[in-house]
Amino acid sequence: MSIRIETDRCSGCGRCCEVCPGNLIRRSADGKADIRRRQDCWGCTSCLKECKTGAILFYLGADIGGRGSVLSVSQKGDIKIWSVTDPGGNVQKIAVNSKESNQY
Ligand code: SF4
Ligand code: SF4
Repeated sequence: MSIRIETDRCSGCGRCCEVCPGNLIRRSADGKADIRRRQDCWGCTSCLKECKTGAILFYLGADIGGRGSVLSVSQKGDIKIWSVTDPGGNVQKIAVNSKESNQY
């Protein structure tokens, strides 16, 4: 598993760098996030959930049936919108209220 960072959408906030448990993301000289040792990413999705600009794309590989689709997250208030985009550009969205999802 791995991620890709769309630098044109990256605000340089650094949140992804702080939460990556493998310390795999750093800010490069231009202040944008950059992943190193991409092969060491184990797909925890922590960076994805923290990114407020939708700059991080998470590959859904063939091994989990994703066939090259990518997952991204955006947020409006308490609502997180999870989007899956397939290689043909088709998008499926799932909206989750983060307040309700934390109630057990
Ligand atoms: S998915 Fe997890 S391990 Fe991979 S880069 Fe993001 S925070 Fe790090
Ligand atoms: S969390 Fe998103 S916007 Fe912030 S530095 Fe990381 S990729 Fe860029």
